Amino acid sequence: MLDVAHLPVVDVHCHPFLDRGPVTAEQFTDMTAFGGGSGEYMEEGGVDFDEEVRSELLRTKRDTLYFRRMVHDLAGFFGVEPDFDAVLKKRNEAVEKDYAGYVGRLYGDAGLTTLVLDFGNPQPALNPAEVDAELPVEVVPLFRIEPLIAELLKTDVGPREFLERFEQVTSDALGRGGYRGLKSVIAYRTGLDVSPLSRTRDQGYQAVDAIRRGTGGNAMKKLRDHLLCRALELCMDHDVPMQVHTGMGDREVNLLRCRPAYLMDLLRFPAFRSCRVLLVHAGYPYHGEAGYMANVLPRVYCDLSEGIPFAGSAARRIVGEVLEMAPVSKVVYGSDGYTLPEINYTGAKLGKRALALALEEIVDLGTLSETEASQAAAMILSDNARELYGLG
Ligand SMILES: [Zn+2]
Repeated sequence: MLDVAHLPVVDVHCHPFLDRGPVTAEQFTDMTAFGGGSGEYMEEGGVDFDEEVRSELLRTKRDTLYFRRMVHDLAGFFGVEPDFDAVLKKRNEAVEKDYAGYVGRLYGDAGLTTLVLDFGNPQPALNPAEVDAELPVEVVPLFRIEPLIAELLKTDVGPREFLERFEQVTSDALGRGGYRGLKSVIAYRTGLDVSPLSRTRDQGYQAVDAIRRGTGGNAMKKLRDHLLCRALELCMDHDVPMQVHTGMGDREVNLLRCRPAYLMDLLRFPAFRSCRVLLVHAGYPYHGEAGYMANVLPRVYCDLSEGIPFAGSAARRIVGEVLEMAPVSKVVYGSDGYTLPEINYTGAKLGKRALALALEEIVDLGTLSETEASQAAAMILSDNARELYGLG
């Protein structure tokens, strides 16, 4: 068995946590279950399920393989039977006694050293310095562009000022703000079929003007497409990577226009091909496309998050299928953990196991030696991400 247990882990895509105290069984399920409506979506006027349907949804969430796996991992950590109530009791006692100490022990057990956090969710955004101070691991903050777009849309500024403020705030975030890269969830809004020609300033100007006059049509898509292009350019100016959500996600995702393949025209376009772009979630369930893109486009990377851990039993297959085409130097580990620290924990445990199993199979095929497989595991779990984000 390939030994990966001792390897350090950088979780390249996750979110800051919310609750530091004990939680009820219902709250724990709600906070760790996959696919709820994101806070940003609610902020923008999204409508949640009514109470009855919601509690039925939560009950079934505990029957997902991902959730069962998390209960098993935590039971192992606490040394109790794999029973949700027993695990939750231990967990609540631990956070009540010493939250940071508990997270430190939990992450020590999984080897988690670093969290690359997308501060766009939850909303309102938490303060990176405060989050960094309270977590016993290295924190690398990312700035999400959609909350800024939402904020600017609420104002009455004209086209010129809208575009200038977008650039100013984003640039400041990457400069003195200390954010180490940008993130976009345009796949949740108008989809990934972004024309590279959207970069012209005229398109942004015209789109804001049409929105302000209420003669919209597809002006919102034109605006978001333009601003994504600007975000890529700002990333290149500041020499930081851009994360773009691809594939499945919270239930408001545009499930038809979230395939990584829609980004091909944009990312191979001369003006953007120098930007380092991480295809978040490797576009699962379209991860074969993301692996291909990491192969043919020199600065495109993909992470394994969300499919691992939320697609529970698919973890090993995802690693194997992404590695069919993606170079091992361009695949990074991530969990998409949010709200509570336990998702990142079970993600790292499952991710390590899946990686070991997938790489062993590759060794059996005679494709990699044992030594090369161990090196590949270290690269995917942390080295590639450290290089991508310049973490030394
Ligand atoms: Zn996420």
